[in-house]
Amino acid sequence: MPKSDTGRSDSAPSDTENARRAAALLHHRSAALAPGESTALPLTTSSTFHLPPDDPESFYYGRNDTPVWQSVEHQLAILEEAPCLLFASGMAAISAALFATLGQGKNLLIPADGYHATRRLAHDCLAAFGVSVRECRTRELANATLDDTHVLFIETPCNPGLDVCDIGLIVERARQAGTIVIADNTASTPFLQRPLDRGVDIVVAADTKAPGGHSDVIAGHVASRNPVFIEGMKNWRSLGGAIAGPHQAWLLHRGLETLELRLERMCGTAGKLARALSRHERVHGLRYPGLPNDPSHATAARQMSDFGTLISFELEGRDAANRFIERCSLLASATSFGGIHSSAERRARWGDNVAEGFIRLSVGCEPADVLIESIGDALNSM
Ligand SMILES: *Cc1c(COP(=O)(O)O)cnc(C)c1O
Repeated sequence: MPKSDTGRSDSAPSDTENARRAAALLHHRSAALAPGESTALPLTTSSTFHLPPDDPESFYYGRNDTPVWQSVEHQLAILEEAPCLLFASGMAAISAALFATLGQGKNLLIPADGYHATRRLAHDCLAAFGVSVRECRTRELANATLDDTHVLFIETPCNPGLDVCDIGLIVERARQAGTIVIADNTASTPFLQRPLDRGVDIVVAADTKAPGGHSDVIAGHVASRNPVFIEGMKNWRSLGGAIAGPHQAWLLHRGLETLELRLERMCGTAGKLARALSRHERVHGLRYPGLPNDPSHATAARQMSDFGTLISFELEGRDAANRFIERCSLLASATSFGGIHSSAERRARWGDNVAEGFIRLSVGCEPADVLIESIGDALNSM
């Protein structure tokens, strides 16, 4: 990962460690290959596996474990430096983490400005099972009362507002209160930010975003260094049945191999684009944690090795935002983020609590100068 403009503190993921992880991830199969075995991961689609009379360690049924999952989980474990479980989607991973740690009469605190489906899962589904749900804005989470809070769910930078919270500080307070901390690390991936290293109990992530990276797979994972949590979430996966299909897992395996490479280009471009947008008169309320004057910058610089691939800003109103997205030929009009194609969307259309002209822009892998010129031309032509 490139260093940020302002340098970064020792506690963000180090370039050396990230480089070592990226290399290990590419070669995780090499050492175990038998002569003549394929270098690329075979796509094994079998739902059942030959069952010897007695061997509880082998694969036996595709809802419990499969060779492709095992390879993807091995890659993820190299990245997270923790046991990982693959899921059918980011939401399936989030469900596993929440349902495995919560129950009747327990309290959950979630970010008021986090991913909308997580909030709905909490209010629509968990509440029905007797979990009480409270919300707090991300930038105020470090001061939230944790008395009686069984699980605290954080998302930093949060989505789509890009506010951040201090993970280490929150974990310290949660420890004192006996609260379990779950972090949604989707926007950063372990290359940019490492919540487990800061003491978070469970990391959840949508691998649909940058890890898959090509807008062709929905997947997610959980990671934890606590075997009790891993066991609980594995049980939830086998019984709940929200499992990734073999092809889906295989695509994620391929995506993960180039994650570090893509992130380097995408974060570099995002930083350049954010600086260009900050000079444009039509752009208001610009947010990118990498900008030195962004309210998120100081905390982000302490805990992130780079500032991510998402930028948000406002144009005059709904029509201006729609026109901008339509006019820029290098921006796909699409939701989601982390893919190789840059994309943008007007978030108010999903009911997010933002202005009508609020745009979330996901920076992809196009060469930076071409992308920035195209976005500048679209803004100037309005
Ligand atoms: C996309 C996303 C999810 C959900 O992931 P799916 O794979 O779509 O289920 C969860 N959290 C965040 C922060 C996301 O961006």
